[in-house]
Amino acid sequence: MSDHGILAVVSGFSGAGKGTLMKELLSRYDNYSLSISATTRQPREGEVHGREYFFVTEEKFLEMIDENKLIEYTRYVNHYYGTPSEYVLNQMKAGRDVILEIEIQGALNIKKRFPDALLLFVVPPSAAELKRRLMGRGTESPEVIEARLRRAVEEAEGVDQYDYLLINDDLDRCVEETHRLIQAQHSRVSNNKEFIRRIQDELNHI
Ligand code: 5GP
Repeated sequence: MSDHGILAVVSGFSGAGKGTLMKELLSRYDNYSLSISATTRQPREGEVHGREYFFVTEEKFLEMIDENKLIEYTRYVNHYYGTPSEYVLNQMKAGRDVILEIEIQGALNIKKRFPDALLLFVVPPSAAELKRRLMGRGTESPEVIEARLRRAVEEAEGVDQYDYLLINDDLDRCVEETHRLIQAQHSRVSNNKEFIRRIQDELNHI
């Protein structure tokens, strides 16, 4: 059901477990397309160009902005991150539910442009758990961890602009909750305008 695929934005503090949540959601259900962002940050160990991100130079990123190729972009801890528009729009048109895993500024820009987008915010069960996960990753310097924790404090301020909170204490439960919330969007009246118009038209000619 619904005229097109759902646009779902998933945000959450760095270290809240969004990545694992998305990976698990995509492996359980095949109706989701995960958008791959462009970024100017360096790849972390194990990250592959075109899989986790499109890793581009600042020059290339600015060119993408100029050419209107991003539906949103932001600067986060000294680097640019942005969502290429073509993939997202094509997938939605094809009826696939598209997930953007992006930070808060980007999420709010998406909501302005796509008022029917569903905004989900993932949090760890506690602040202590967040710090433990960030340190446990072992890929970041103490300065970067510090910067990310500070950013989490800032982002906590914006949580009330999201539609739903996902507490990531149990991965299995959290995946099912995410799926349930996104699928419920298909029944929203605002996502079924074409269907309603068709029924009205049919009623007028009965
Ligand atoms: P990381 O460097 O840890 O991969 O990502 C840092 C932050 O940038 C995360 O909160 C991530 O969700 C966000 N992010 C990734 N891609 C995009 C994007 O295309 N746009 C925006 N606004 N944020 C993004």
